[in-house]
Amino acid sequence: MALCEHFLDPGACADCRPRRSAPPPEYGPWFEASYTGVCSGCDHMIRPGDQARHDGYDGYLCAACGDTGPGLTTVTVAGGLL
Ligand SMILES: [Zn+2]
Ligand SMILES: [Zn+2]
Repeated sequence: MALCEHFLDPGACADCRPRRSAPPPEYGPWFEASYTGVCSGCDHMIRPGDQARHDGYDGYLCAACGDTGPGLTTVTVAGGLL
């Protein structure tokens, strides 16, 4: 078996293992929700008048989740779907 440049199994080497995770999503700009939706980060309801932003995939984040920066939660969910 070929070893990586670190003399490890390439599949086990943290440096050489292919990185499957996509780059962090780009969150959209904040906007005021004009309809009811569900936050893709915490499953809380987003109500008209709440601050929300696009999560970079196909959902929206509530004020609390959108504030945390590109979230591990959404990345994990996306990875699970791949
Ligand atoms: Zn390596
Ligand atoms: Zn949320």
